[in-house]
Amino acid sequence: MVAEPDWLLLAGFDRYRRPLWLRPSAARARQAMRRAAAADGVVLEAVSGFRSHDYQLGIFERKLARGQTVAQILEVNAAPGYSEHHGGEALDIGTPGEPPAEESFEATPAFAWLAVHAGAHGFAMSYPRGNPHGIVYEPWHWRFAR
Ligand SMILES: [Zn+2]
Repeated sequence: MVAEPDWLLLAGFDRYRRPLWLRPSAARARQAMRRAAAADGVVLEAVSGFRSHDYQLGIFERKLARGQTVAQILEVNAAPGYSEHHGGEALDIGTPGEPPAEESFEATPAFAWLAVHAGAHGFAMSYPRGNPHGIVYEPWHWRFAR
């Protein structure tokens, strides 16, 4: 179970112009990382930051209504209460012209930049290929852990 944090900071806006909420330390690190990437000519877009337990439940309800089974949904979405996004330190990253949350992100200059520089900003990929959590490879999902 991943608890929701007591404090979140508005970390800017995501690619859909929705407010992006993160824990304060993660929000500051994300801004610094985005600026450093921009200085290298790389655009990092936020796709998703903090998500509440209720929001995650809504994802399940929408997919169930579309006829997916719980097992199918669990292949790509954590159960409500168990997503790293509830903690306010996980960030899904995209780049212009790329669909969100697709494996093809790994072939972008944005991913290449992250692979080299994200660690210096305190971000690590949570679900690399063959991760022990049994979660599909998610090159777009990074977590601030410092
Ligand atoms: Zn994610």
